[in-house]
Amino acid sequence: MENSNFLRSLIKKDLETKKRDHVVTRFPPEPNGYLHIGHAKSIVINFGLANDFNGKVNLRFDDTNPLKEDSEYVKAIKEDIEWLGYKWDDLFFASDYFQEMYDRAVLLIKKGKAYVDDLSQEEIREYRGTLTEPGKDSPYRNRSIEENLKLFEQMRNGEFGNGERVLRAKIDMSSPNINLRDPIIYRIAHATHHNTGDAWCIYPMYAFAHPLEDAIEGVTHSLCTTEFEDQRPLYNWVVAECEMEHIPEQTEFGRLNITNTVMSKRKLKQLVDEKIVDGWDDPRMPTISGLRRRGYTPEAIRTFVNETGVSKGSGEVDSQMLDYFVREDLKLKAPRTMGIIRPLKVVITNYPEGQVEMLDAEINPENPEMGMRQIPFSREIYIEQEDFMENPPKKYFRLFPGNEVRLKHAYFIKCEDVIKDEEGNVIEIHCTYDPETKSGSGFTGRKVKGTLHWVEASQAIPAEFRLYEPLLLNNEEGTEKNFLEQINPQSLQVLQGFVEPTMKDVQAQEKFQFFRHGYFNVDPKDTTPEKPVFNLIVSLKSSFKL
Ligand code: ATP
Ligand code: MG
Ligand code: MG
Repeated sequence: MENSNFLRSLIKKDLETKKRDHVVTRFPPEPNGYLHIGHAKSIVINFGLANDFNGKVNLRFDDTNPLKEDSEYVKAIKEDIEWLGYKWDDLFFASDYFQEMYDRAVLLIKKGKAYVDDLSQEEIREYRGTLTEPGKDSPYRNRSIEENLKLFEQMRNGEFGNGERVLRAKIDMSSPNINLRDPIIYRIAHATHHNTGDAWCIYPMYAFAHPLEDAIEGVTHSLCTTEFEDQRPLYNWVVAECEMEHIPEQTEFGRLNITNTVMSKRKLKQLVDEKIVDGWDDPRMPTISGLRRRGYTPEAIRTFVNETGVSKGSGEVDSQMLDYFVREDLKLKAPRTMGIIRPLKVVITNYPEGQVEMLDAEINPENPEMGMRQIPFSREIYIEQEDFMENPPKKYFRLFPGNEVRLKHAYFIKCEDVIKDEEGNVIEIHCTYDPETKSGSGFTGRKVKGTLHWVEASQAIPAEFRLYEPLLLNNEEGTEKNFLEQINPQSLQVLQGFVEPTMKDVQAQEKFQFFRHGYFNVDPKDTTPEKPVFNLIVSLKSSFKL
């Protein structure tokens, strides 16, 4: 069950009071980039509410700006919504309504509610005034209806260049709400549109197009983020003055913001274009496709978004909260395995040369139904470099000369000798093992404090590990400072190690918990049959508490 919130209460009331007898919502992305986790909030809200009230939800591409939009994005957005686990009822393109929008604009002109303006963008901005100062009328504001109709048709026929004319709604140049000071509703753009090609050279502005789109589709509840609150009077004006039959209603909710995360398509696109990341689906990106490639699950993303709640406010959510939910989701699902990220060879000198034995290991101790796996053990294994220290500090319970540790699923081993190269680097450790201490044998003779993971050397599969840190050191959203200066130089670390032979046939997007390291996802792009690539989703421990 999803959390109750003010949007749900509002819809419930609208149905109870018979203000509405059904519910239609929409998710309206502009296809000018990939979806990010902020969009997931809008998706969860719009699809979730439609579903809860037996309503319908439209996926509508808000594609009214030919300069930034592309069908690559259309495809990616559809994939991401489906992957998140949602199905839209109807699919629409705002650009399919261009003729109707044009006709409604003509209607406004005929009613004396819109005019063609020759002022430049800068002049229009100057004339608009400020919060404390009323706006000034354009000298073209009182053109005759006939002249306006003729000029608008000429605009449509391509007789003017970009920026030479605009169509403005005629509302109120002294309104305290600047959005109502004769907003621009059409502009000229000689550009090829991803859907309508070269059919149009004038395009409706968002503030005019969006309410019409909602009205045309019969949307009852148009849910958007709070930055559109000041546009609501204009939204209602457009619906009313364009004489739309169906009247949709806009309600705003707070945006999702996350610590150390940029969430603006413009900035994300900059990271992609400047090759600071490896595409929109780079595992460090907060895009849905990046989170997918990193290994986050749809369940974790949905739970996260639901738990952050829906309100008018938009606080900043700790990114560790998402990590918490992915751990929760994977805990019982992900098989356990062992992998060595920074290998150090260990030779067990008293183990018979050439012998390999198979040991039993649980696939998931927290979910015994997942069964057992068999892993090889022999005279040569790899352990982590950090699990050996020649001169350890106090309370170091791992391997050091003379110390004994447990090898997970195997035996106790004791460090007898350290082999170094000419420069004094440790290259190999020699140990002895005690056959009495075999895991599962019930041995209680003595205790050791450290348990290490390991991989048998002769059958080990070479693997690449990609470890991540936040892409940004500080959250610079909302400031004018160049966010590229905040890039974390350590955001990606690539290491070459080994995994156990049970990992031979791993498939793209399979998720594992590597003992002592964390949860990893099999990278879908760079994994080859010879060498799997594992992306760190999250480490095992966190200070985060819900
Ligand atoms: P951006 O500012 O990142 O470019 P946008 O709002 O321009 O995003 P759209 O494609 O227009 O992107 O967004 C589609 C829907 O997703 C809109 O209704 C928008 O309000 C919503 N949305 C975008 N970002 C967030 C966010 N951080 N939290 C909640 N909803 C969001
Ligand atoms: Mg937008
Ligand atoms: Mg945008």
